Amino acid sequence: MTLIFSGNDYKYELEGVMKLFIPATLFTHVFSDKIETEDDFAFIREKNYKNFVLLYVICSYKGRICRKVRRITDRNEILSCDKELYLSQLLYKAMSELTGIVPKWGVITGIRPVKRVNDMLNKGRSKEEIFDAMEEKYLCSREKCDIAYETALTQKKVLDTLDPKSFSLYISIPFCPSRCSYCSFVSQSVESCLKIIPEYIEHLCREIKYTGELVKRIGLKLNTVYFGGGTPTTLTAEQLELLMKTIEDSFDMSGVAEYTVEAGRPDTITEEKLRTLKLNGCTRVSINPQTLNDEVLKAMGRRHTVKEFYDSFELARKIGFDSINTDVIAGLSKDTIESFKFTIDKLIELAPENLTVHTLSIKRAARLNHGDKSELENPADRMVEYATKMLMGNEYKPYYLYRQKNMVGNLENIGWCRQGFESLYNIYIMEEVQTILAMGAGASTKLVSLDPRRLERVFNYKFPLEYDKHFDLMISRKKGIEDFYA
Ligand code: SF4
Repeated sequence: MTLIFSGNDYKYELEGVMKLFIPATLFTHVFSDKIETEDDFAFIREKNYKNFVLLYVICSYKGRICRKVRRITDRNEILSCDKELYLSQLLYKAMSELTGIVPKWGVITGIRPVKRVNDMLNKGRSKEEIFDAMEEKYLCSREKCDIAYETALTQKKVLDTLDPKSFSLYISIPFCPSRCSYCSFVSQSVESCLKIIPEYIEHLCREIKYTGELVKRIGLKLNTVYFGGGTPTTLTAEQLELLMKTIEDSFDMSGVAEYTVEAGRPDTITEEKLRTLKLNGCTRVSINPQTLNDEVLKAMGRRHTVKEFYDSFELARKIGFDSINTDVIAGLSKDTIESFKFTIDKLIELAPENLTVHTLSIKRAARLNHGDKSELENPADRMVEYATKMLMGNEYKPYYLYRQKNMVGNLENIGWCRQGFESLYNIYIMEEVQTILAMGAGASTKLVSLDPRRLERVFNYKFPLEYDKHFDLMISRKKGIEDFYA
């Protein structure tokens, strides 16, 4: 598909709009006032005349053509309007007519749609004004306006009390007992890297101690701790304890409001590990069934059963965890609407404090290259709708929401919580409002200053072997953290 830009250079944003309709397509960019291609194309033009501005798009797709025009004559509007947004709207409408697809998030293409609502709330806009802007400006559906607005409201009380001197720690454990078929993380199966784990832990402890010293010099206050991965509980109880004790010795833990360890895979959970976590300050665990259908679990390469999930959940409750997250995925291969509904209904009965609904559409992405509407009728869409209805009806609130890039059907991942159980870390990281000092392979530190607004990243090496090999070089780069706060 060729995108032809005339009188403008909004290629990034406008390509993002095109991907809502034909996600996995390769786009060629051309800057020209003429249409000279045999390919399908979108011609996107901004032309300034003496007393007016003409914006128009012509889309040619699968032998059909659609034109959309906007003429701006008001002098003030010419000077102040967002022409990129206007062109996005025209392109959206033209492609929607040609494909029959109506992406529910409208022209919001970024991964954090709630940010727009948060910005408007911070400017004191009313609910009506926010909905008007979302629907008229961004062409967002009522359903998505509702979910974005509810999420922003739940986040507000967390964000309003955020201490600008606070920070979170992220510890990366990029190992799993086996690899799930849909996994896109930098995680390695434990069978293939059992030998490197001790050295990895040794380096991780050194990085934790180094960061502890750094934090003392800067004067930051530890607010939340998060062990992610991978599956941190792939480690033994002794290894987990060593890491947790090193954190305790290196940081002032008195202000820690939340301490999460992802114990994602039930096949890694033992009573000894859960007790170790609890004894060493962990307040929240994540135990993820993904589905309560054994056939689907098998098809996705998860080496555990539904029963093991229930047993692990019960064990965590017995040991005293009163904040448990469970992840599910909508759109898994072999899953059906009925089986997904069963998963949601049973989990609601189990009443975890957090329930995160992810959407998976990898398989469909390839087929969707052709923008075929029937392909976009993704069962994940109906699954997400069902989960939303049921969770809202059972006193769960959405507290964070993000979309994956080029996500088919333009769906999203939503974290739901029971009253008072919003995961602080998830909100901070998603809204980019707090510094996250991240350690381990694949971890990326996010340095945030709110006033003035600044955001910088420091990346660790991606794979455990690289992390071990180039450890000293990587640590030397972390000096940049002090410069950020200087
Ligand atoms: S448990 Fe998570 S991180 Fe590990 S392989 Fe499966 S999807 Fe990937």
